[in-house]
Amino acid sequence: MGEFELIRQFFAAAPCARAGGEVVLGIGDDCALLDVPAGHQLAISTDTLVAGVHFPEQPDPFLLGQRVLAVAASDLAAMGATPIGFTLALTLPNVDPEWLRLFAEGLNRMAESCALRLIGGDTTRGPLSLTVSVLGRVPAGRALTRSGAEVGDLLCVGGPLGDAAGALPLVLGQRQADAQLADPLLARYWAPQPQLALGQALLGRATAALDISDGLLADAGHIAKASRVAINVQRDALPLSAALLAFAGLPGARACALAGGDDYVLLFSLPAAEFSALLAEGWPVTVIGNVSEGQGVYLLDEQGRPLDVDRRGYEHF
Ligand code: ADP
Ligand code: MG
Repeated sequence: MGEFELIRQFFAAAPCARAGGEVVLGIGDDCALLDVPAGHQLAISTDTLVAGVHFPEQPDPFLLGQRVLAVAASDLAAMGATPIGFTLALTLPNVDPEWLRLFAEGLNRMAESCALRLIGGDTTRGPLSLTVSVLGRVPAGRALTRSGAEVGDLLCVGGPLGDAAGALPLVLGQRQADAQLADPLLARYWAPQPQLALGQALLGRATAALDISDGLLADAGHIAKASRVAINVQRDALPLSAALLAFAGLPGARACALAGGDDYVLLFSLPAAEFSALLAEGWPVTVIGNVSEGQGVYLLDEQGRPLDVDRRGYEHF
């Protein structure tokens, strides 16, 4: 199968590749063409996943298709952006039609659940690697950045932490568990749900936001630095799932929540009154700390005493 037939069959013909909405022209020309509605800015983010680094060497292609788009779309959620479309740069060691069919199915599943249209890409031969760029729109000047956290704000997360990191020994085949425990954890690793609706609900409310990809403490550090504040995390307030607690125990679950990566849950700061409003609207948000004067990230015990923190999340270099 040639490059063009591959693109046509698996990507251009996918339901998520239909033009519409802001996408005036999709796959097939030299560029895609997008309308950006008046009063909006374009939000763009790129993520690369490499076999053996970001996922096992022989991944399930359906799950990989879901995951590569989910991790990219999560950046749109973190800015409060409304999804428009995405491009896919695919490097493949060989052309395996069954593998591609399943990969495209997983990709399409996540694309439809995120309302993202596939608008183009590139296809090359080499060691398996995937690059997705996502595009969204946000009302001009209102995107959620990392730099606006204010002293006195609450620090919140949009859901349980550490599940994906807890699933890693399962993903790598180092540990086994009953499906009852393993399935919910593996789902959080392979198919994280980008918190797009929550991100949009935070517009005009959150003072700073990001999506947790490198671990809570490391990512909280990005907000602290950009906002020039201290961030205090209450160890006992971390939301932990029942599956993670049963699989890893309390100390293990806490370690996953604090330093494990791959959560793709929103972390944000906001005034207390805004938090009450979010709760009243039914958003699954939890207060895990606050913002104070100073610099850096502090982990506190139930008496408010600082705890030592050794691992600060995953850094590639
Ligand atoms: P060019 O040579 O002009 O860069 P290509 O031949 O690489 O174009 O691609 C032809 C069309 O197919 C373009 O619209 C491109 O965006 C799209 N495309 C290529 N690879 C992919 C892919 N993996 N997924 C989606 N669209 C793709
Ligand atoms: Mg090309």
